Amino acid sequence: AKSLGGGTWRFFAPDMRPRANQTVQMEAELRGALSRREFTLHYQPQIDLRGDRVVGVEALLRWQHPQRGLLSPGSFLSLAEETGLILLINEWVLNEACRQGAAWEASGLRDLRVAVNMSPIQFKRQGVETLVKEALGASGMRPTSLELELTEGILLGNDEQIVKQMHILRSLGVTLSVDDFGTGYSSLSYLRSFPLHRLKIDRSFVQDLGSDPSALAIVRTIIDLGHILHLQVLAEGVETESQLQLLRSEGCDEGQGYYFSRPVPADEFADWIAQYGK
Ligand code: C2E
Ligand code: CA
Ligand code: CA
Ligand code: CA
Repeated sequence: AKSLGGGTWRFFAPDMRPRANQTVQMEAELRGALSRREFTLHYQPQIDLRGDRVVGVEALLRWQHPQRGLLSPGSFLSLAEETGLILLINEWVLNEACRQGAAWEASGLRDLRVAVNMSPIQFKRQGVETLVKEALGASGMRPTSLELELTEGILLGNDEQIVKQMHILRSLGVTLSVDDFGTGYSSLSYLRSFPLHRLKIDRSFVQDLGSDPSALAIVRTIIDLGHILHLQVLAEGVETESQLQLLRSEGCDEGQGYYFSRPVPADEFADWIAQYGK
């Protein structure tokens, strides 16, 4: 308990104040992180399970914090969303991923898809197609090499404006995937209303593939559903050989996960793919 004078006492849980302070401090730091160039992208390969070929990469945001070290989005994404800073951050992500994609293209890595996670609030704003066009124009990356990963939340409302934006993106050649498929509200009707290319099976199902028969049933159902709707299906979070074998035998098109590679900086990815190709 702390005396505030005048006989008033206020109680703080022992660790409450430091945590609140930390959030305030994080927010201040987050505001400056863009201008100090503390954000960086790591890339995780996406593998064609039939040809055993690298077909894409997912760009994943990291914050190289001067004191706290390399931070994953889990520790700052919600703060970035609450403060609206995610709009600026994700604009940077989009531009940086396209710049890197164009550099890889120029270095001879042909037909490598670069997937970018879209923030729901960014996608719900009008003009996301302008941001995308600018990023493609400035980088020179081919539009067909860009994929945007959307969460089911973005698709739920079946908002006319969003459908329109998606059609514009598609007409540019950009592809669209549904991230974490199976974990949201899964109103299956939206799959028909949107111009989608790919479903990404959430890693929670993939993780339980060997141990839980219902996980296998769900994975099988998503793969079948995707194929009936002419969508490609990618399994996230592949960590073991046996998960990979199961996914292959179920006809899953693509996989991504620690089994192949963790997300790594761009230069490490270039080294990795040179090895993998052999
Ligand atoms: P996500 O889009 O579902 O990305 C996949 C997450 O799973 C990544 O976590 C990745 O490192 C992790 N992962 C990949 N393979 C495996 C595996 O085999 N096993 C396990 N256990 N995990 C695996 P990360 O990088 O910490 O990103 C977390 C989330 O943050 C992402 O989930 C995505 O929703 C969000 N995010 C990442 N980058 C961005 C961004 O640039 N913008 C926005 N708006 N969100 C982002
Ligand atoms: Ca994703
Ligand atoms: Ca995901
Ligand atoms: Ca996720």
